[in-house]
Amino acid sequence: MSVLVSGAEAVLWDGPSADSLLVEDGVVTAVGTGLTAGPGTTVVDARGAVVVPGLVNAHHHMFQSLTRVRGQDRPLFGWLAELWPLFSKHDGAWQEAATAVAVAELLLSGCTTSVDHHYLAPTPGAPDPVDAQVAAARRLGIRLVSAVGSMDVDDAHGGLAPAALCENSEQYLARLSELADRHHDPDPSSLTRVAAAPCHPLAVTADLVRGAHEIARTRGLGFHTHLAEARDEEAATVRATGLRPLDLLAELGVLGPGTWLAHCVHLSDDDIATLAATGTAVALCPSSNLRLGSGIARVRDLVDAGVTVGLGVDGAASNDGGSALAEARQLLLVSRAGGVEQGLTAREALQVATAGGARALGRTDLGTIALGARADLAVFDVTGLHAVGTEADPLAGLLLSPPATARHVLVEGQAVVRDHALVHADPMELAAQARTAIARSRITTHTPG
Ligand SMILES: [Zn+2]
Repeated sequence: MSVLVSGAEAVLWDGPSADSLLVEDGVVTAVGTGLTAGPGTTVVDARGAVVVPGLVNAHHHMFQSLTRVRGQDRPLFGWLAELWPLFSKHDGAWQEAATAVAVAELLLSGCTTSVDHHYLAPTPGAPDPVDAQVAAARRLGIRLVSAVGSMDVDDAHGGLAPAALCENSEQYLARLSELADRHHDPDPSSLTRVAAAPCHPLAVTADLVRGAHEIARTRGLGFHTHLAEARDEEAATVRATGLRPLDLLAELGVLGPGTWLAHCVHLSDDDIATLAATGTAVALCPSSNLRLGSGIARVRDLVDAGVTVGLGVDGAASNDGGSALAEARQLLLVSRAGGVEQGLTAREALQVATAGGARALGRTDLGTIALGARADLAVFDVTGLHAVGTEADPLAGLLLSPPATARHVLVEGQAVVRDHALVHADPMELAAQARTAIARSRITTHTPG
């Protein structure tokens, strides 16, 4: 199938200025000026718009889309304590409705690839919610990395969550393998991959981490977990294990290419050097870190050290939304908290939000517009009110103006957003389904403790 994207004000790529690009069978085959279409080619109108690589969201918890406005004034661990009783009502119907909401928000913001880190144990005997997650993502058309997580240390034994949300490591490792059998497709064109993703070093045993990493290594899956998010996390990790958070992961043997760590707010100089030396990537989540008062990651230091840096919107319970473009703007802003000379440029922030995240996921063919890259593209209108005054540099204007929805979004060259609307779903229906799931789970009646 051939697609011509034409008439753009600008295309974000490393070559000379261009206004159009050609796609054949899901791959970019030409970028240039005034490219024309042969018979049977689908034409995507990019006049009055800029074309950028589809954004890559390297950390998310889509199930949290049903639980915004909780723990409004609490830090991470207190916020979690308020949420666990709600999460205990979680099931496949919740997961499917919440995933659809999250994916819709991401697609409309120009995001074409997303991780979903799911770490709640399934109810024994019930279908695995990860199956519902994958089904919802496929229905809407995003490229998904299903990061299958777990917890096997409950809060009575130094972990984070109640026992009902935990499972033992054997159950998890068997489930991870089965889910990889069902859903992991390493073909570059596939829309679903699986990663191994223990929830958090304090919530899992060393056996679970090592077992998950071994499955990831032997099956070619990525490896993902949370690290160094909250201010009190380092002291808690040292108390529990005698090691600082990153040193603990090093001791467990999970650092290296293929591993990416969410948050990484509280890092020492040595930690940053270790990340760079081992080829371990990070997924920064600036909005979530601000909402929970966790702090601001050392963005410039990470980039300058050569660490692979991607971006994550994180769950809607801590971000309050799932716009990847808004998150890229947030990263740009927080990177300047110590002075503008320390901050990222708009193009650097866009690079983190596209190619940086893709590389964190082990992909050099995503998050970039280049010959041979997958045709995952976002087309943003620059004629509307939000973009007035950005004419001097409309690509930088994507982040130096209020975040907009994308006009068109293509995944594998196929439209998933057309004229600012989802192709495969009605947003009001998704919202109604999500509210039905909320009512069914009876989580509206929860009173903050
Ligand atoms: Zn997270």
